[in-house]
Amino acid sequence: MAPSHAAQFSPQTRLVVDGRPEPEPDAPLNTPVTFASTYHAGGERGYGRYGNTTWEAFESVLGGLEGGTALAFASGLAACSAVLSMVPEGAVVVAPQTAYLGVLDQLRERQAAGRATVRQVDMTDPAAVRKAADGAAMVWLESPANPTMEIADIRQISDDARAAGALTVVDNTFATPLLQRPLQLGADVVVHSATKLLSGHSDVLLGATAVSGDVLFAALERHRKLHGAVPGPMDTFLALRGIRTLGVRLERAQATAAELADRLSGHRNVRVVRYPGFGTVLSIEVPGGAAGADAVVAAARLWVHTTSLGGVESTLERRRRWPAESTTVDESLIRLSVGIEDAEDLWRDLQHALESSRRDELRLSNPLDTLDGGGDRRFDEARHHGAV
Ligand SMILES: *Cc1c(COP(=O)(O)O)cnc(C)c1O
Repeated sequence: MAPSHAAQFSPQTRLVVDGRPEPEPDAPLNTPVTFASTYHAGGERGYGRYGNTTWEAFESVLGGLEGGTALAFASGLAACSAVLSMVPEGAVVVAPQTAYLGVLDQLRERQAAGRATVRQVDMTDPAAVRKAADGAAMVWLESPANPTMEIADIRQISDDARAAGALTVVDNTFATPLLQRPLQLGADVVVHSATKLLSGHSDVLLGATAVSGDVLFAALERHRKLHGAVPGPMDTFLALRGIRTLGVRLERAQATAAELADRLSGHRNVRVVRYPGFGTVLSIEVPGGAAGADAVVAAARLWVHTTSLGGVESTLERRRRWPAESTTVDESLIRLSVGIEDAEDLWRDLQHALESSRRDELRLSNPLDTLDGGGDRRFDEARHHGAV
């Protein structure tokens, strides 16, 4: 469905022009939503679980950006599950210490059932990953990682994994193909939770894979047909509508995220700022452990207290509120997903939240202490991760 001239354009343009219907008189400019469980016989699609023009339009946009062939799934986790289904029974999978909870849970479940051996490693250390990849079938990366914002060297790890005979998979949800193209860096498979930045409006669940080889594509497509984790046409339409504006949303949210990371790193009530220098998500760690972080989250007004990320709305949450979150994640870590609101409004609300929680903390530690009395206290463990 991509216009034949599309490949010459930059990604920002392809986001807008790929996946449109052929420009014939009276054809709609944009791909409409196709509600169909079945089709007249004699064509390629045949049945609603096998194909849908709205899926194909979304897939052509994402595939074009990632430099491969994309498939849409019912959710990000359905896409991850399809990819993990390619691991032979009993094989070794290398996984990060922190990554999306659902992926780690799926791996743990497989291991508990004796169907896989999972080696969790520090993926910021390519030598450790190389060692773990020896004899493995798959190396799973998430970069930047949720919620620690750690970065993996995708090129180095993909090279090493290939030499060891393992497939490299990269969850590219946080970066999007506008900031990082794992297939070009040597990875075999990209997975997305299109629920997040690609759709961008917190109203859709959708997943996707992208690969460059025909064999992998066929395996994933067969899995989708056979196991049925197909997306709804309306959801895919909303994702297609959303991805059209990914360029402008990302540009603005990223600029705000970088500015906030910079300002937060100088804030007396922030111990650690984790921002890799790109993207729209950052994490902070605050004094006072879980209670300190809960107070900050409760005091925010403009920032919405919710999980998920990548919407036009700025959101925040303390990740360890989820019992399944990795214990390597600090109790006080708050993940911030930056949206497209005014940067100064966002900053004022964050400052307010950080200050009011600090007032609570001072009141607790010494009822006679006033805000001014403790005003210039500095937290000497303050560190700033990442080059903003
Ligand atoms: C949300 C998320 C997923 C899971 O996607 P769903 O669409 O919620 O199923 C996978 N990986 C990452 C990095 C995510 O943020």
